[in-house]
Amino acid sequence: MNQPEALVSTDISSCRDDFPALHQEVNGHPLAFLDSAASAQQPNTVIDAVARYQRHDHANVHRGVHTLSHRATELYEGARDKLCNFVNATSRAEMVLTSGTTEAINLVAQSFCRPTLKPGDQVLITWLEHHSNIVPWQLVCEQTGADLIVAPIDDNGDIVLSELLGLMTTRVKMLGIGHVSNALGTVNPLHEIIAAAKSIGIPVLVDGAQGVPHMQVDVQELGCDFYAFSGHKMFGPTGAGVLWGREALLESMPPYKGGGDMILEVSFENTVFNELPYKFEAGTPNISGIIGLGAAVDYLQSVGMQNIAEHEKNLHSYMVDKLKSVSGLRLIGTARKQASVQSFMLNDIHPHDLGTILDHQGVAVRTGHHCAMPVMQRFGLPGTARASLGLYNNTDDIDQLIDALEKARQVFA
Ligand code: PLP
Repeated sequence: MNQPEALVSTDISSCRDDFPALHQEVNGHPLAFLDSAASAQQPNTVIDAVARYQRHDHANVHRGVHTLSHRATELYEGARDKLCNFVNATSRAEMVLTSGTTEAINLVAQSFCRPTLKPGDQVLITWLEHHSNIVPWQLVCEQTGADLIVAPIDDNGDIVLSELLGLMTTRVKMLGIGHVSNALGTVNPLHEIIAAAKSIGIPVLVDGAQGVPHMQVDVQELGCDFYAFSGHKMFGPTGAGVLWGREALLESMPPYKGGGDMILEVSFENTVFNELPYKFEAGTPNISGIIGLGAAVDYLQSVGMQNIAEHEKNLHSYMVDKLKSVSGLRLIGTARKQASVQSFMLNDIHPHDLGTILDHQGVAVRTGHHCAMPVMQRFGLPGTARASLGLYNNTDDIDQLIDALEKARQVFA
């Protein structure tokens, strides 16, 4: 078939071969996996790194004098170094390993905000956020008497910038904002937003769950204070993720959880906490998951974030053009800048019914509210169907989606 020039870059098109799960039939059709925003597939290198660790090196980290424990610790801490390099952290102290974005945001809400927020203070978010970047702030506001305030979005799914900037006052003690909307694909103009927040001293947390798999992220260049992301969205294992934070802020924060590994000394009278980042890593971590995440970073860097961003940009516009040609299809989310995600409705077919028909034809899309109920409320919908791209998708996947949508249209005619 004819593919646009930029989509046949040998590097990217051969990447598909690295992902074993993509090479199967589902319901008698080749799998067109268009649900990477929920959880991306894993390349052989990640699967192998985890299996190798489980087979040969498994032991607890930081604790043992024996060889396997040393090996496990080296692999685990090696992954931390890779993650530092991946987002350009200035030191390992800034790289807190978590179970994912959700835990990272809860950590900041409870450890950074809870001790200082008071009635009259505000936490600012936007209507675009995933529940993980709403509920932790709601909880801490309830606990402290602070108010949660929300900047609106327009009919395209762009944040209304003037309104967001207007809400930034000295009462705001935290801005929590997504890098890329998981429901609509909107890429927020973070540089401008963060600069405005910082100019009046508002700390900024970026929910980067949908940012890091698709574009180069440099936390120093962004200028935010915290950046959270999840391994399973970036071709790594589930249950492993990151909170990057500025060292001075992390230093000033009390531990989030108590337990083993986050201490230097414990007596019944007093506990001396461990240094950063271990102060925030109580208990046995997800060792294999973090090792797999390190392998995912290697993989992404070997393909090249610039290549990935370019490939996905081309593929996204190919997908949008094709979707527009389907009669009765309505795009939900038409922001100025989008990355890798497109929500839509087909006539008045319920998204779950549509998703089921697509699955019968081997096409995997996500349906429902995408853990972003306020976004759905903003558009007056119970949910949408959402196709989301990863570096391994190609125009054949999109064509298969379009054919399946045409069939669905006939089924529900
Ligand atoms: N934020 C965004 C934008 C997401 O898309 C997701 C997952 O869908 C999350 C946060 C939560 O990620 P996790 O469940 O890995 O903690």
